[in-house]
Amino acid sequence: MGRVNDHYLKLKAGYLFPEIGRRVRAFEAANPNAKVIRLGIGDVTEPMPPAIAAAMHAAVDEMARRETFRGYGPEQGYDFLREKIAEHDFRSRGAEVAADEIFVSDGCKCDSGNFLDVLATGANVTAVTDPVYPVYVDTNVMAGNTGVANERGEFERIVYLPATVANGFSPAVPGRHVDVIYLCSPNNPTGAVLTREALTRWVDYARREGALILFDAAYEAFITDPAIPHSIYEIPGARDVAVELRSFSKTAGFTGTRCAFTVVTKTLMGKTADGQEVQLHALWTRRHTTKFNGVSYVVQRGAEAVYGTEGQAQVRALIYFYLGNAEVIRERLSAVGLEVHGGVNAPYVWIATPEGGDGRRAESWAFFDRLLAEANVVVTPGSGFGAAGEGFVRISAFNSRANVEEATRRIVAMLGRA
Ligand code: PLP
Repeated sequence: MGRVNDHYLKLKAGYLFPEIGRRVRAFEAANPNAKVIRLGIGDVTEPMPPAIAAAMHAAVDEMARRETFRGYGPEQGYDFLREKIAEHDFRSRGAEVAADEIFVSDGCKCDSGNFLDVLATGANVTAVTDPVYPVYVDTNVMAGNTGVANERGEFERIVYLPATVANGFSPAVPGRHVDVIYLCSPNNPTGAVLTREALTRWVDYARREGALILFDAAYEAFITDPAIPHSIYEIPGARDVAVELRSFSKTAGFTGTRCAFTVVTKTLMGKTADGQEVQLHALWTRRHTTKFNGVSYVVQRGAEAVYGTEGQAQVRALIYFYLGNAEVIRERLSAVGLEVHGGVNAPYVWIATPEGGDGRRAESWAFFDRLLAEANVVVTPGSGFGAAGEGFVRISAFNSRANVEEATRRIVAMLGRA
């Protein structure tokens, strides 16, 4: 028998979304006539924009002709896409990023976990904001970078920075040294964004402490406030301390098609066990070219079309459609007295649970169960994202307008009956 990776056994048995799925299936089995509306998992619902589909069709035709057929592509991605990304996503915003610092991949989720391959095991103290996208923590547990979890579900060797109403869901930099920091803006699950000032404090902290920031900007396209940075590289000095993760998933409807990219600048250094400096770009190139064989040509042509005139207009329309859903959720639920956060620069609305009947705010799972049973609406319990998410639920704006309107109508009616 092969020895298993024991670290996996430290993970909680039920990942958040399977547990939600289990409860929803049980409810549907017991109530076959209920029309359940899912505002839980953050998957897009609208079809792929036509300019992207057309580019993919053309690429498929190229693959079917001898003269234009392509086999393996460059592992880091085709230059036609890397150049467009560098120009549109970075240089046009004053962020200095070169095409060869961009690594096209099949997902920002995968890369956030994969990046641990080039960092030492068990040697770094890692900080996450709490609540947090669970992948950052779970991949560190799997890699053996943590101890065991306490009764709050918090792992040894991870520093949790509570994101609360009091700090505007933007925790201060830690008062101690950490080596690796995960930041996500716009944030999943709170929908909050990091201001230029807050990001500057993080970059300054990382420079002072010799720390590495993994900046997840998967929801960057949802930023509506012109003052909010879209990339960490808009902050002076960030090139020396940060990796940025981006994705076409939520921006352009690629959750099923799969295309994303990771930026590793050439000025970003790490250190070896004996204190030598090494370029993380070199290590990541080695990792990426050894373990990954590139995103398909067809998909990269589709991603390239996101940057065309038609693609840009269609993608913007998609984003504004989802943000319109978020506005419906925000307005209707705040009108009946719920405390509502997020949903302005992000597709997620973060709602404080109402009073649970005993004079205290309902627990996240209790409110989840009540919404499922009484309104037949599925949300995500905030406590599933970390201890500081207790007393909140996340409502996703990814759905049809009709479903969002119906779901909010039912929630309002449910609260009116209480
Ligand atoms: N990063 C965050 C913060 C997310 O919420 C998600 C998806 O929900 C991802 C990354 C996943 O991105 P991808 O589809 O590119 O793997």
